[in-house]
Amino acid sequence: MTVYLLANNEYDENCYCVLDNGHHCLVIDPGCQAQSVKDFLREEEAELRGILLTHGHFDHITSAQELSEWAGVPIIAAKAEAALLKDPSLNLSAFALNKGISLVPTRLVEDGETIDILYEPLQVIATPGHTPGGVCYYMEDDGIVFTGDTLFREAVGRTDFPLSDSEALTKSINERLFVLPPKTEVYPGHGRSTYIAHERKVHGQAY
Ligand SMILES: [Zn+2]
Repeated sequence: MTVYLLANNEYDENCYCVLDNGHHCLVIDPGCQAQSVKDFLREEEAELRGILLTHGHFDHITSAQELSEWAGVPIIAAKAEAALLKDPSLNLSAFALNKGISLVPTRLVEDGETIDILYEPLQVIATPGHTPGGVCYYMEDDGIVFTGDTLFREAVGRTDFPLSDSEALTKSINERLFVLPPKTEVYPGHGRSTYIAHERKVHGQAY
C-alpha cells in the first residue's frame, strides 16, 4: 500500500492516489486536473478502480466525473453529502468555476461501511461539520486516515460555509478522529500530512 500525493497548484488541494501491491488504484478527491491522474496511472502502470470523495466542495471534485467516465469506475461519496454534490451553489462551483458542477455519485456510503476495492479495506468514518456529509477514510492496517477538510496539520476545517456546523466539527474531531491510534498518519485535503498524536498535542488532547 502506497500513497502518492498529486498536489494541485490551482486550488492548493491534495489529491491522493492509493496503490495496492496489485497496482490497483483508488483516487481520493480528484480536484486535480484529470490529466495528472491519467499520467500517474500510466507511469505506475496502475489500474484505476474507483474515486472516493471526502466531501463535495468544488476543489475536491472537479475531475471526478471525467475520470469516472474515462476509466468506467464508480464515484463513491457519503449519502449525507448527495444534496451538496448535486447543487452548484452548495458545492461552491457556481461561484468558483466558469461552469457549475452537479455530481451524482455512483455509490453512496454511510458511517461504518467498508470499501473493498483495494487489497486492504477502507473504513468510512462520518465526520460532519465542515459539510453535512463529510467523511474520512481509514485504513486500519496501514495506520492511515484521509481527512479531507475536517482535520489539517495544526488546523481544522472552515465552518463559515452554507451548511457548515462548528459544533458538529468539534464533535467529529474529538469523538471520531482523536480516538484513532496516536501513530495514525493523517493525510489532509490541504497542506502537509501529520499524525493523530501531534494534533492531539497541538489542540490540547481535545479540540
Ligand atoms: Zn471543503
